[in-house]
Amino acid sequence: MLTQAPKGTKDVPMTESYKWQFVEERIRQMTKLAGLREVRTPMFEHTELFLRSVGDTTDVVQKEMYTFMDKGGRSITLKPEGTASVVRSFIESRLYSEVLPAKMYYLSMPNFRYEKPQNGRLREFHQFGVEVFGAPLATEDAELISLAWNITQSLGVTGLELHINSIGCPECRAKYYEALRDFFRPKLGGMCENCKDRFERNPMRLLDCKEEKCKEAAVGAPKMIDYLCEDCSSHFEVLKSALGAMNIDYTIDPQIVRGLDYYTKTVFEIIAKLPDGPLTVCGGGRYDNLIEEVGGPKMAGVGFGMGMERLLMVMERVGAEIPKPALLDVYIANYGDAARLAALKLCSELRALGVRADIDHAGRSMRAQFKYADKIDAGYVITIGEDEMAKNQITLRQMVSHEEKPFNLSDAEGIAGEILRNLK
Ligand code: ATP
Ligand code: MG
Repeated sequence: MLTQAPKGTKDVPMTESYKWQFVEERIRQMTKLAGLREVRTPMFEHTELFLRSVGDTTDVVQKEMYTFMDKGGRSITLKPEGTASVVRSFIESRLYSEVLPAKMYYLSMPNFRYEKPQNGRLREFHQFGVEVFGAPLATEDAELISLAWNITQSLGVTGLELHINSIGCPECRAKYYEALRDFFRPKLGGMCENCKDRFERNPMRLLDCKEEKCKEAAVGAPKMIDYLCEDCSSHFEVLKSALGAMNIDYTIDPQIVRGLDYYTKTVFEIIAKLPDGPLTVCGGGRYDNLIEEVGGPKMAGVGFGMGMERLLMVMERVGAEIPKPALLDVYIANYGDAARLAALKLCSELRALGVRADIDHAGRSMRAQFKYADKIDAGYVITIGEDEMAKNQITLRQMVSHEEKPFNLSDAEGIAGEILRNLK
């Protein structure tokens, strides 16, 4: 128990973190190129925020939230998703009265959902997400989709599919809801209790139910895109031609309704078709009523969330390469108390000059220290013992080529210059 992480959580041990850093660095580069700025929000919020935004007929709210009373008697929820918090923070800091549109991203943000842990499904997972407020045109939707798509492509993820759909606006949805109710009414007896409950309040949720019998019942259901009003329909047309203009292939998929209530018009998912089934890596869409719903001005919004664990998992499955960086440029092996102090001094001088350096503090034999340097793939080794101390001279040895060069023990700059010239 003591040495087991809680169910549904996953450590990133020090031997694996370079993979996260590689992906995070790429995301930072590409969001910077798109003119986005980072936003950070707290790990928990008032429960009410998610009831309002995510919606109280969704799986996330009905089954999956980590909700508790704090010691002050407030109902608190660990963030199940990122958008609601970003909207809340945008309103609270009154950014709507500054330069618009506001374009932002968050990276490796922890999310919590009480789900059945399984392939690609965790209880604590992390998201990279983008939100843009104040840009109502469908070309913005397309631009964000292309950003998400290009990030996955630049990370070497092959075999992905982009699925798009429109779920309209509250006006055109009213007629669609009626058609959905007519379709499901005769089948409702065979569906799950949750679906029976959602039938009146939010019939579109019946299309998103994960229960097998409900999935079967939903086959052949009417499609929202056949009910779009003029505004929503032309938005969808612009989205398609904008994706076409960027040469991004897509499939129109009426099954995509998304698991959160706040979406309007565009919804999309980027799906990895793995041998053992599809896995959604990224999901998002437009939410033109959410900012007002949470208490801000009426303002368009659009965004997406990408699961970091899922992205890394799919990268691994398709064999996308992540270079493993060497840990150290130079390792300073040392023997004896006086030599250790000299090594310590040289080590700190080399670090100050931008060289990744380390020394032995375990008092191990020279042989053991060399072995260690070899195991961690240090580029160079310096040895300091009685001899080197007496002559005030050391040898810089390149591990791969076995090439050796003498240096004065106090010539940190010369040593650093040689190392950096060859490694960088
Ligand atoms: P699903 O249909 O797979 O349950 P969702 O619609 O609940 O997904 P979103 O709320 O759109 O997912 O979350 C955005 C992204 O976050 C997903 O596409 C996925 O990559 C990731 N994600 C969602 N839930 C989990 C989870 N429990 N564990 C790991 N990643 C997750
Ligand atoms: Mg889900």
